[in-house]
Amino acid sequence: MRSCKKCPLSQGRILAVPGEGPEGAHILLLGEAPGRFEDRTGRPFVGQAGKLLDKALEEAGLRRDEVFITSVVKCRPPNNREPKHEEIESCRAYLNRQIEALKPNVVVALGRVAFAALTGKKGGITRGKVSDLGDMKLVTTYHPAVALHGRPTWFKYIVKDLKRASKLSQ
Ligand code: URA
Repeated sequence: MRSCKKCPLSQGRILAVPGEGPEGAHILLLGEAPGRFEDRTGRPFVGQAGKLLDKALEEAGLRRDEVFITSVVKCRPPNNREPKHEEIESCRAYLNRQIEALKPNVVVALGRVAFAALTGKKGGITRGKVSDLGDMKLVTTYHPAVALHGRPTWFKYIVKDLKRASKLSQ
């Protein structure tokens, strides 16, 4: 992934952000795309949204180092715009391989873009919803960035949904 040139996002990136977490993680958290700080460090969710995600994980009784964290696309889109359909498709094989290798019990879609990439369903999300994704459970929640930009009260729902994911993963 670090040397991938399959789509134009590779031209604007500093570092690709494959994701991180232990081999035995039961939960995979799926975001949308790396932002500025992720692009600079090569690590997922290390910017503002990442700080909030860390707090939500802690409140849900999960440790960051026990879950696998990645995003739908591994390179930062210009000005943090939403990743395009073709970019998501170019990157899909990496995500599929990660899921196949990890075999998590639970995948948490953080927001609409992650939910759509996993299910093919466009439009709004129903947070707190649990559905089947092959042998795995899919838990859908808000992207932590929404709690940063205008909807601070939604943080508690992210915590609630992460607790649900934690229970389902055991
Ligand atoms: N937002 C995401 O969706 N992924 C990251 O890695 C950082 C912010």
